[in-house]
Amino acid sequence: MRTVITGGAGFVGSHMCDYLLEKGHEIVCIDNLLTGNAENVVHLLGNKRFSFVNYNVSSYIYVSGNVDNVLHFASPASPSDYLEYPIETLKVGSLGTLHSLGLAKAKKATFLLASTSEVYGDPQIHPQSEDYWGNVNPIGPRGVYDEAKRFAEAITMAYHRSHQVNTKIVRVFNTYGPRMRIKDGRALPNFMCQAIRGEDLTIYGDGLQTRSFCYVSDLVEGVYRLLISDEHEPVNIGNPEEITVLQLAKEILALTGSKSKIGYCPLPVDDPKVRQPDITKAKKILGWEPKVSRKDGLMNTIRYFNKILQKNDA
Ligand code: UDP
Repeated sequence: MRTVITGGAGFVGSHMCDYLLEKGHEIVCIDNLLTGNAENVVHLLGNKRFSFVNYNVSSYIYVSGNVDNVLHFASPASPSDYLEYPIETLKVGSLGTLHSLGLAKAKKATFLLASTSEVYGDPQIHPQSEDYWGNVNPIGPRGVYDEAKRFAEAITMAYHRSHQVNTKIVRVFNTYGPRMRIKDGRALPNFMCQAIRGEDLTIYGDGLQTRSFCYVSDLVEGVYRLLISDEHEPVNIGNPEEITVLQLAKEILALTGSKSKIGYCPLPVDDPKVRQPDITKAKKILGWEPKVSRKDGLMNTIRYFNKILQKNDA
């Protein structure tokens, strides 16, 4: 199996590279390192089945030789990133998806789109199942990511229906684990870095908004099962254990033993009030459900941030 992974040096993409190399795949990792990090794949550079190409997939993609799978993971994915790079986010979700689909079509490869729970926007149905069409503000600051991913889903289904490309769509819910960046900007890495450094934890709004956090190894297993399945319509992959942001902050304080305090900041525009995946479909058709408890996942991630902050702050 020869697999192209766009965004392969990102947080989730690099874990996908590791997982598929373990399964015996040859990996072509393409990343322009806008929000990805070469450090995430540096341990793979000596592997003969791994190659890295520094390239922006929003431009035409050329890959020589046969390709069996194209996994499109490239995109800024943290709200602070897509606010900083709105045009790049729109381009990689639209043009990047078009080019990745074009590559899959030319190579007769299976295509997998990393979509997102953000297609549901600020949801009015709870928990979110795949048949919910969502509640997205197209012109709000988050719209650049949400609408790009909604377009990406639409063009993926069009390539499936019109060009018979074997396509898959995974809707990824909040995922965490080692290789998130110190400056990622999302709640979980922010809270961990703040707790370890003894800084105030920055809760946006009253902290009563909810999210459901999935450990990265569970996500990657779910994505793989979808890749080898016969399903063409979107599948939610996430951990349905829902908590408030305030509860997450308190758990991180307890697990790090930090003396940091909790501070409150303004809530960003269009911030979803609730989010929880309905994973009935993934359970039924993929036989998948998350296995890693939040405590274990958080501890692994805290150990990771302890290590990189020691290096970074030295
Ligand atoms: N959030 C927070 N403090 C932070 C970063 C985020 O309270 O330092 C909140 C954010 O407003 C949202 C939730 O935590 O309600 C999850 O945000 P995140 O950026 O992790 O991802 P999202 O799920 O919104 O894409």
